[in-house]
Amino acid sequence: MAEIFHGFELLLLKKFDKHPEQWRDLKQKLSNKSNDDLQESYSYVDLLMLGNIPQSMWFLSVALHNRPKYLLQLILQDLERERTGNVRRPGETLLKTYMNTYNFTEFHLDSIFKYGEDNTLPKEIFKCPNVKLLSLKYNCLDKIPVDIGRMKNLRFLALTNNKLQVQSIPYSLTFCRKLKTIMLDNNLLDALPGFLLKMPAIRTVHRHGNHNYFKSTFMWYHTDVGYRIIPSEGAHIDSERNPKPLQFWAAKTVIGMKIDFFEDPNFSVILQDYLSEIYHLFKVCHYCSGASFRYQPGYKVITFKNPYLGNTCVPFQHWACSIKCAVALEVPARQEQIAAATRLDDLYEEYIEECQTMFSDVQARHSALCGCICTSPPPTIRSPPTTTNHSNRICVVS
Ligand SMILES: [Zn+2]
Repeated sequence: MAEIFHGFELLLLKKFDKHPEQWRDLKQKLSNKSNDDLQESYSYVDLLMLGNIPQSMWFLSVALHNRPKYLLQLILQDLERERTGNVRRPGETLLKTYMNTYNFTEFHLDSIFKYGEDNTLPKEIFKCPNVKLLSLKYNCLDKIPVDIGRMKNLRFLALTNNKLQVQSIPYSLTFCRKLKTIMLDNNLLDALPGFLLKMPAIRTVHRHGNHNYFKSTFMWYHTDVGYRIIPSEGAHIDSERNPKPLQFWAAKTVIGMKIDFFEDPNFSVILQDYLSEIYHLFKVCHYCSGASFRYQPGYKVITFKNPYLGNTCVPFQHWACSIKCAVALEVPARQEQIAAATRLDDLYEEYIEECQTMFSDVQARHSALCGCICTSPPPTIRSPPTTTNHSNRICVVS
């Protein structure tokens, strides 16, 4: 059975980690009870004796309603540590302890942040290896942390109704090699990230309601192919140009090589954390094994896939560090797109011929039997061909 971690739990533990005095307060109210009393006070009524809970702490009320055992267990653990003098180490947050105590497999974290609030997602949530489902709908997110790549068992990722652009989704998502479904509806995408095409398990991408997407698709698809390689000038950020230690340059190489450093045993936990911390400074070339600084110039490359009967096209946006890499991405993708369209035309042609033959056969048989030309029941015909059978294995739900 799925073990679910809820948004109210995240908000509560985040609050207590930020305001330890409130956590101390809560513990204080319970510390005069004996251990046995606490074990037995797993009921909501007992916990209400804590006093009035202010509205701003609504998540405490919800946690007491829905997860009293989990919360009390955490309090008991902490009281026990205090008694034995086993104090919390720096960086060992309540959230981390909570995550390590339970084997959560689903994170339901929808609508936990309001517009304008600090919507930083704590790193701890990405360090749970058994999570299969992560839902972050309606959170005004404008970026996804690099640490998403730590979730090796992730099958389903919902990012619906956020403020994500193509560059908001880090390349490290490709480390989630079991990811099957990604929901990107109602964001600010003008194309899908090109690296989705390299992810082996992806079967469904929801992309409905990305306004820029349709505008840009139309523009790129109907203009000269030359416009599908778009130079990006970069920016001037001097602070990034200070001398850096050798470890920094080694990390840049690792990032460019697209090594899954979260999984590779050659990388210590400290190195993994370091790589995750500096990852956002770079853009990974989708063609060669190079990472360039975000402020450096490069190229956006738009390619298309035709997943449904040729009646819609799906744009993907890639990043290339040089014009050479950009051309190496664009030309074969365009050839593949044309070949897929031609294959689809051929299949459709065959399908129409098959239908016509079938209808004329039925018609002929029927006329022979009753001697008139009247309406006969339609024969059973197979479904029209789709490209999902051959060139494009990704089903995009628009
Ligand atoms: Zn390159």
